[in-house]
Amino acid sequence: MHRPSKEMENALNRRTFAVRLLRTCARALLLSACLLPAGCATMHRLTAPKPFTLIVLPDTQRYTQMYPNIFARQTAWIKEQKKLRNIVGVLHEGDITDKSTEEEWSTAYQSMRTLDGVVPYYLVMGNHDFDPDSTPAQRGASRFNQHFGSQRFAKYPWYGGHYGAGNENAYYLLRVEKSEFLILCLEFGPRDDVLAWANQIVAAHPNHHTILFTHCYTSAHDTRIGPKDPGNPRGMGYDGNDGEQIWQKFASRHKNIFLVLSGHILGDGLGHLISQGINGNRVDQILANYQMQKFGGTGWLRILNFHPDQQKISIKTYSPMLEKYAHGQQNQFEIDYPR
Ligand SMILES: [Zn+2]
Repeated sequence: MHRPSKEMENALNRRTFAVRLLRTCARALLLSACLLPAGCATMHRLTAPKPFTLIVLPDTQRYTQMYPNIFARQTAWIKEQKKLRNIVGVLHEGDITDKSTEEEWSTAYQSMRTLDGVVPYYLVMGNHDFDPDSTPAQRGASRFNQHFGSQRFAKYPWYGGHYGAGNENAYYLLRVEKSEFLILCLEFGPRDDVLAWANQIVAAHPNHHTILFTHCYTSAHDTRIGPKDPGNPRGMGYDGNDGEQIWQKFASRHKNIFLVLSGHILGDGLGHLISQGINGNRVDQILANYQMQKFGGTGWLRILNFHPDQQKISIKTYSPMLEKYAHGQQNQFEIDYPR
């Protein structure tokens, strides 16, 4: 056996000592990080799932009609804030336009296209978005589909699919922090066949936390829209389901539906109802519509900040136009993270 020289032996010993020293230091660092409260918080931050954000754009019909700069400012702000707030999706609650004219659709398109390639976005049709010459029975949606049809979204991996010829009823998939979400967009006053399709889609994604997104659902009195409520689709001549019917026929039946978001309703335009689905799951049903305020809504939008580590979703209302948050319990509150 070849015996190493004295110098080589010394060098080997020095290396062994250096490796041991490094290992000891690393262990000490880990230990001190966990023993000190600040260190533990740092370690926790390194391993905890990151918060992420969904933005909700309540009815923009007045902006599109009269104050296009406010709508444009909202989407520009979302683009600016995307990284900082980890924005993963934007939901437009419908009544995108007021009179559904070509000019208004073009205005709305200019604002929304700011988000193209930046962040996924999902729109539902409001009653003001049907084609101007269409009757409630016809539900004409050619202008909506011309600007926001499936041809616009099909190229993205997050686009799930749609029901029928147009994009009025569509679903989108979102994977964040190991959680799977399904965003189901339904037409104004969804018809029975649409609800049957929605039941199939949600049943086919049992492990996806599901958000139901439709223009008319929750009232400003913290109830679901029923037969006597103003703004009820049936009262407006549409052969479709109101909030209470959507709940009975669809939303209450799935354990993975945790949130319903809607707009449309006037009054103070704010509502929040918590119900239990037939499987015992909590469902938060939230209305936000600011169109009665100055400048058709003063730019208010909703920020839904998901905290998977705390099992909470914090909801705030912010105006990029005013650069400030709205006060009050109806504009700032927390709901449970889906389980
Ligand atoms: Zn409406």
